[in-house]
Amino acid sequence: MPPMLDVSEDVRAEIGDEEADRLLAGDSAPGSYDCTSCRTPGDPEQERTSTVLFVGEETAVLAFAHASCIPSQVVQLAEDQLQGAVRSITGAPRAAAPAVDPAPLDAAPNQAVLGVTSGLILVNGDLHPALVVEPTAPIARPGTTGGDGDDFLPLLMEQGFAPIHDVNGLPAPLQGWSVLLAMGKLHAILQAGGVAWWQAHQALQVTEGWRTAANKSKTVLVFAAPVGAIGQQPREDLLRDALEKAAARGLLVAAAMPLAGT
Ligand SMILES: [Zn+2]
Repeated sequence: MPPMLDVSEDVRAEIGDEEADRLLAGDSAPGSYDCTSCRTPGDPEQERTSTVLFVGEETAVLAFAHASCIPSQVVQLAEDQLQGAVRSITGAPRAAAPAVDPAPLDAAPNQAVLGVTSGLILVNGDLHPALVVEPTAPIARPGTTGGDGDDFLPLLMEQGFAPIHDVNGLPAPLQGWSVLLAMGKLHAILQAGGVAWWQAHQALQVTEGWRTAANKSKTVLVFAAPVGAIGQQPREDLLRDALEKAAARGLLVAAAMPLAGT
């Protein structure tokens, strides 16, 4: 029985009819794979599977996803982002896929997970697509035991995030970092060198408004605050209030990052 593979017109145009037909016939389809979206195992013999082609400037990588997670598509990336995406697709052993991935945070003795919230944030009268990152526990500097300290903000400032004292100022761009979106779902925050700094266990749904704004501005504001500084906020205006309060307490850093993918 041929595998249940979806190959979109875009993917077919990139890989060519011959390769597309080979895939559909099962000659070069994977026996099983880790879904590029939710990262759980998939099997094209058992369930509908989408081909996802990541295209960089020099290389392209064909990956697979549950059709129920994302449709077959081409995702354009800068070359270093592609290398990072490839590592995150093929990298971690599936059972141990870290939520905080990889340096500088995964050496923390307490297994903190980065919580990521998306929202449209009002800055200077304009709504900007934003992500707010807050760990679930204090972050210790790699190689230290941590004690009672929380090195989350200092570590991020060393990476180039800037302290924010007023949410009404646009954060500066952070060279080499980007936010990876595919078909309207958030997959990862990639740091310089294309390594995933944060990787979604399951791609995060964003609102249509967020996606539209991000595709328009091609830039996402990434705010980060230590555990407990922001909390879960049910509305975007409350999220902004919480950012404002964290900023006033000196507990907010941010950077502007280009959008990769759509
Ligand atoms: Zn999946």
